[in-house]
Amino acid sequence: MDMHDVQPVLYQRFKRVLQKQSLFHAYLFTGGFFSFEFAIWIAQSLFCQQAEQHLACGKCRNCQLIAANDFSDVQLIQPTGNTIKVNQVRELISEMSQTGVEGNQRVFIIKSVDLLSSSAANALLKFIEEPSPNTYLFLLTNQLGQVLPTIQSRTQIIPFRKNILGFSEALKQQDILPSKADLLANVTNHMSDAQLLNESQWFNQGTQLIQQWVSDLSNRNKLSFVSVGAKLVPIFDDKDKQKIAFNLIAYYFEKQMLSTKDSLLSANLFKAEKKFQFNVSFQNCLEMLVIDSLWR
Ligand SMILES: [Zn+2]
Repeated sequence: MDMHDVQPVLYQRFKRVLQKQSLFHAYLFTGGFFSFEFAIWIAQSLFCQQAEQHLACGKCRNCQLIAANDFSDVQLIQPTGNTIKVNQVRELISEMSQTGVEGNQRVFIIKSVDLLSSSAANALLKFIEEPSPNTYLFLLTNQLGQVLPTIQSRTQIIPFRKNILGFSEALKQQDILPSKADLLANVTNHMSDAQLLNESQWFNQGTQLIQQWVSDLSNRNKLSFVSVGAKLVPIFDDKDKQKIAFNLIAYYFEKQMLSTKDSLLSANLFKAEKKFQFNVSFQNCLEMLVIDSLWR
């Protein structure tokens, strides 16, 4: 997958940084849209054995090992459960003070940095303030507001905004049908999620059901009320699937809107999604959406 397709502006920016060899020692990637893949690409560019103008080839041994998370000088830290524990960060920092195995550079990528415990965050802060030479840190988060302000102020914050068109193109290059690529690019944020959904039977079935349901709802068909419990709930049977259901509904609403300009539905969807975030059940949220749209 080409970073140029999914994050064209950031690609150009970091291409210049890599070519000038002026990488900063600590970045905070926010927004999450291909931020992990981007950090991997930067790491590959630093270690690539056949880099062209300092940019990764993606094919050599080092590039492949880094992509497989099997390269000793590129370390990935992920939360265990709901936090990143202080001993994970301590281990990391002691690693940071050692020199690289393959060369003199080292890269550390920390996912969900908003989940750092406060002692872990403070340990990390020490490194950010007194970095080791040739050591690069990439902190990733989808929730900037949850990241310690002292970390925010000492890192370069780079927003990874969603680029649906570019994502859709990247999916087509993975041999996903064009019509499906557009849908998947709208309802997911990660290549791996999109590929998984593309092969999931429940997703394909669920997509058809949502499409029909949205069409019934916009025709003010009363069946849409019954379908929530009878059809949608059995397929979208956990919180993760239900989040995807909301994305699918938004996607088909938007398609309908182009022809019907039905602003009541969008307003009601917004309300329903808010309730869902506050832990009202999926079924209740959608049934209320139908009631608000049909009978009020
Ligand atoms: Zn390479």
